[in-house]
Amino acid sequence: QERVFSGVQPSGNLTLGNYLGAIRNWVGLQQDYESIFCVVDLHAITVWQEPEVLRNATREVAAGMIASGVDPKQSIIFNQSQVRQHAELAWIFNCVARLGWLNRMTQFKEKAGKNKERASVGLYVYPNLMAADILLYKATHVPVGEDQKQHLELTRDIAQKFNSDYGVEFFPDVEPLILGEATRVMSLRDGTNKMSKSDPSDMSRINLTDDRDTIAKKIRKARTDAEPLPETPDGLEGRPEAKNLITIFGALAGKSSAEVCSQYAGKGFADFKRDLADLSVDVLGPITEEMKRLTEEKTYVDSVLREGADKAAAIAEPILQEIHEIVGFLKP
Ligand code: ATP
Ligand code: MG
Repeated sequence: QERVFSGVQPSGNLTLGNYLGAIRNWVGLQQDYESIFCVVDLHAITVWQEPEVLRNATREVAAGMIASGVDPKQSIIFNQSQVRQHAELAWIFNCVARLGWLNRMTQFKEKAGKNKERASVGLYVYPNLMAADILLYKATHVPVGEDQKQHLELTRDIAQKFNSDYGVEFFPDVEPLILGEATRVMSLRDGTNKMSKSDPSDMSRINLTDDRDTIAKKIRKARTDAEPLPETPDGLEGRPEAKNLITIFGALAGKSSAEVCSQYAGKGFADFKRDLADLSVDVLGPITEEMKRLTEEKTYVDSVLREGADKAAAIAEPILQEIHEIVGFLKP
């Protein structure tokens, strides 16, 4: 049986990167797969979160998923901490994964920064918890942005090592689904950095909660170079900021980069940015409005998350029981 699992951290506002790289793709997948979508609050606390901010962000991220078209009637939507089995399986995987594997993870290196001694242990074992999120449901397909590819390879390694250590065919092969044109949306301030909801600069990203003027300002001020737009995508070589804006335009308009380039060939960025801002507002505006409506109605989102947690736990618990059996935990 095929099952989709994916998650987003409530570590800030949802960004255009989260939308184009992940959430938008979930909407289509939920038609064809049994789908489980998680607000991963256990992951979020691998870096400091103010408790009240975390609680609000959890509601807001869930509202963002629903406003984007993830349907709580079709898919399971819940927050991770409500399903205790995630943390428990993560512990077991801490004992399966090898230090050498985790030492190669680039996200840890980026997020820990220069002073690794001061990073939380949770940030280091983050990929083991992510493997637990997916394998707790024996999910087979995981729609994510390009940045999560390495963590998914680790998930496969953990599944395979567990299967071979215990001599079982228990966990399935997990397949990443990296879909669409904008699999790695870059920062508006630096075309070599990923757009992230936890970036200290709000000007680096477009949030799903931004209003029309804020979006227009952020795009107007987005870094570009002095050259006009090229005739073909070949002319974007060595121009990461220009390439990023054209990719975003294409993803929002449902056009290829080649089509966008030919539309704006030889023009300066001022016209292009004005159109990109209008296009962004057209696509994101209705989502922002719906998100606002849903978060103002607090009990609705909370009840979706509560029901989702019950449904998720009902799938997870029997699988975890089997894992206990395989590992050799005594149940008198
Ligand atoms: P943080 O900075 O706290 O890590 P984030 O913006 O990276 O936040 P996550 O919650 O870590 O968001 O990731 C949620 C999903 O969004 C993942 O599937 C991830 O691959 C995807 N994603 C995140 N950033 C981008 C981006 N810039 N472009 C495309 N996909 C992205
Ligand atoms: Mg991230």
